[in-house]
Amino acid sequence: TNFSDLGLAETVLRALKTEGYETPTPIQAQAIPLLLEGRDLLGIAQTGTGKTCAFATPLITRLLANPEHPRPKQTRVLVLAPTRELAAQIGDSFRAYGRFAGLRVATIFGGVGFGAQVQALTRGLDVLVATPGRLLDHMQQGNLRLDGTSAVVLDEADHMLDLGFLVPIRKIFSKLPKARQTLFFSATMPTEIAKLAGEMLHMPEKVSV
Ligand code: AMP
Repeated sequence: TNFSDLGLAETVLRALKTEGYETPTPIQAQAIPLLLEGRDLLGIAQTGTGKTCAFATPLITRLLANPEHPRPKQTRVLVLAPTRELAAQIGDSFRAYGRFAGLRVATIFGGVGFGAQVQALTRGLDVLVATPGRLLDHMQQGNLRLDGTSAVVLDEADHMLDLGFLVPIRKIFSKLPKARQTLFFSATMPTEIAKLAGEMLHMPEKVSV
C-alpha cells in the first residue's frame, strides 16, 4: 500500500512527503480508509506503531473536505491525551501533517497559565489536543463548548484510567454531540476500558496491531 492509495487530501500527502514518510505502517493502512468514511474506531495499539498519523491524517482530510470556520470557543476535532508530553507530541503531529492545510491547532495542559490557552480557545479551533483535567477547568470556566465538535479521539485510554481520569473523561464526553465520530486507542483492554469503549463508540471497527 502507498499513502496515495488511501484517499488522503493532496495537502496531507505533500506534508507526509516532507516528513519523509514513504510507506504506511500497518495501523495506518488499516485505519485511514475506515476513518475517512467516518467510522468509529477501536484501536489496540502501542505508541511507536504510527497511530498518531493513522488518526490525524484522515481527520485533517475530513476537516478540509468540509471547510468551515471554527466558531469562537468551539473546536471541530478534540483529542484527549493522558500527559502533557503526549498532548504536545500529538499537537506537533497535527501541525506537521496539516502544515499546508492552514489549520488552527492548539495544545492545552495543566501546570501552566490559563491566559494563552483562553486566547486560543476564544478564537475557535480546528483541532484541540488536551489533557482531561485542564480541559474540564476550561469548560467549567465557560472558555470552551463542545457542541460543534464532530470528531473526538481518546488516546492511551488505559493510561487515562491509571491516572484517575475516568470521571473527567465521562464529564467531557457528556457534552459532545451524539452524532460524532469517535476514536478510542488503548494498548490494553482492562474491563473498565472495554466498558467505556462500549458506551462511547457506535458500531466501531476494531484494529489491532
Ligand atoms: P506514533 O506511534 O504515532 O507515536 O509514531 C511513532 C513514530 O513513527 C513517530 O516519530 C512518527 O513520526 C513515525 N512515523 C509514523 N508513521 C510513519 C511512517 N509511515 N513512516 C515513517 N515514520 C513514521
